[in-house]
Amino acid sequence: MNVTGNLTYETIPTKKGNNLIMLKNYTFSKDSRTRNYYCSSKLKGCRARFKMDEKGDIIHGDFTHTHDPPKYAISSCGHYIKLKWCWWLLHCVVYTLEIYLS
Ligand SMILES: [Zn+2]
Repeated sequence: MNVTGNLTYETIPTKKGNNLIMLKNYTFSKDSRTRNYYCSSKLKGCRARFKMDEKGDIIHGDFTHTHDPPKYAISSCGHYIKLKWCWWLLHCVVYTLEIYLS
């Protein structure tokens, strides 16, 4: 599925300074050299990705995931970065566990 046009997403700050993008309950992380974002499950073979322009609009992407959304979500009322951090850290732990167990 290719999607063009403006999509809404949420930005989650990370320790490294790179932002994690939450889009349709999936998380994406930025490639350090380009404006490409890749699914957080890229290492597990998911090829979902998208490209962002200078203004932060998603210009095109492939949102076909090979897995279910991560089992966490940022609540719609989650304006608190700390809360997001908690979610992200939780995700990180779960993700590490998933790698460890698979
Ligand atoms: Zn994916």
